[in-house]
Amino acid sequence: MSAPTPPSRLFRGGRLFDGNQFLEATDLRCDAHGKITEIGIALVAQLAEEVTELHGKWLIPGLVDCHVHFREPGLVRKEGYGYGSSGALHGGVTTVCEIQNNPPLMDSLSILKEKLENLRGISRVDYAPYGSLVEESLGDLNAMKKHCPAVKCFLGCSTGAGGVADEATLRRWFGAAAKAGIKVVAHCEDNEVMDAATESLKDDPEKFFRHDLRRSREAEVVSIDSAIAVAAEVGAILHVFHISTFEGASRVMAAAGRGMAVTGSTAPHYLLATAKDTESIGQNRFKVNPAIKYQEDREGLGNLVARGMLPIVGTDHAPHPLDEKDRPYNKAPSGFPSIDLLLPLMLAAADLNACPPEAFLHAVTLGPAKEFHLDQKGRLEVGADADLVILDPNQKRVVDESTLLSRSGWSPYHGRELRGFPQQVFLRGNLVFAGGATVGEPIGQPLMA
Ligand SMILES: [Zn+2]
Repeated sequence: MSAPTPPSRLFRGGRLFDGNQFLEATDLRCDAHGKITEIGIALVAQLAEEVTELHGKWLIPGLVDCHVHFREPGLVRKEGYGYGSSGALHGGVTTVCEIQNNPPLMDSLSILKEKLENLRGISRVDYAPYGSLVEESLGDLNAMKKHCPAVKCFLGCSTGAGGVADEATLRRWFGAAAKAGIKVVAHCEDNEVMDAATESLKDDPEKFFRHDLRRSREAEVVSIDSAIAVAAEVGAILHVFHISTFEGASRVMAAAGRGMAVTGSTAPHYLLATAKDTESIGQNRFKVNPAIKYQEDREGLGNLVARGMLPIVGTDHAPHPLDEKDRPYNKAPSGFPSIDLLLPLMLAAADLNACPPEAFLHAVTLGPAKEFHLDQKGRLEVGADADLVILDPNQKRVVDESTLLSRSGWSPYHGRELRGFPQQVFLRGNLVFAGGATVGEPIGQPLMA
């Protein structure tokens, strides 16, 4: 199915965020090819152009979520691209970089290309799934390079996928990625540190069920150190995902300061919650890997995002049915849905840090688009895709999980008051979301087919 032809559109009198900064009382025009063609002051409407008066509302780029799990193929009963991409639009997201963390992993060019094609007509947002960095994919990395933004490596075991057995294996895998010139995106938690913590806590019934102690700060920092050391040794390009500790982020920045090709990102929950909050919210709802840490981590990471030193945030959206989360701690899966709320969560993170929103918006627009070379996305500039979100930053709403669009139908943020929910979302000039619901047929396209 080819994408429909959108009308030429003119948005007038908005507060435009271009990916870096706000432009006051500015107009934006996009054409029938879904591209931004003009940004300026007092643009004059053309014949047959659809005009939207913004009256000072914000017009921002469609968000780029560089870390989501939609579980298609293989576990569509938990989500799938139909539900996941609907949730994405609800959160203002128009592009996802998605990680397959259930079988079949994306461990060959053929399976990756099959996935890219199968999602046409299903996904409501544009997509660029990662490949998997596992034994099976090593011979195919050269061929996969053109078709995915990076390959994902799980250094510690997480949701049953991946896991590197030892450092020699890590060296071989990172070495193969370096040779192919493909970026490695990594989940960093050290299995030995986590196993030792589990062992030492086993006779302490209170602490044994503390996720932040089982998957500790040390587990993350040791693993990040090891990933950085091996990447430096073999010349791999490394991105550390969902950093949950200030110390971990500091290690990444220090390595980058030494000239290494290493970057990192965090996730909204590490900017908004602490281990204490996770105790008060039941059903293991905030159980996630890496575990949510402490106030100094939350503040430290928020400060780094605010200062543009950690310029990328991805949700790690990982849906599970609530009855599975409701099992006893040990048996409950890790991860929770959050893409439905990404835009208001980023504004909440800015507010919590008493900061202006620019850096927090950059971290879910231009920041990830640059990191993963999605040159048409995450920016409002002439020639870019007309992926647009309209919002009223002053409009507040209490999160009601029953109104969210991703499949699991619950949220750890249920009951929290947030501001700046997307009112309308456009994908390549097409209206795809309005009034809390999706609009039209799914027109998402693969970005690296
Ligand atoms: Zn993840």
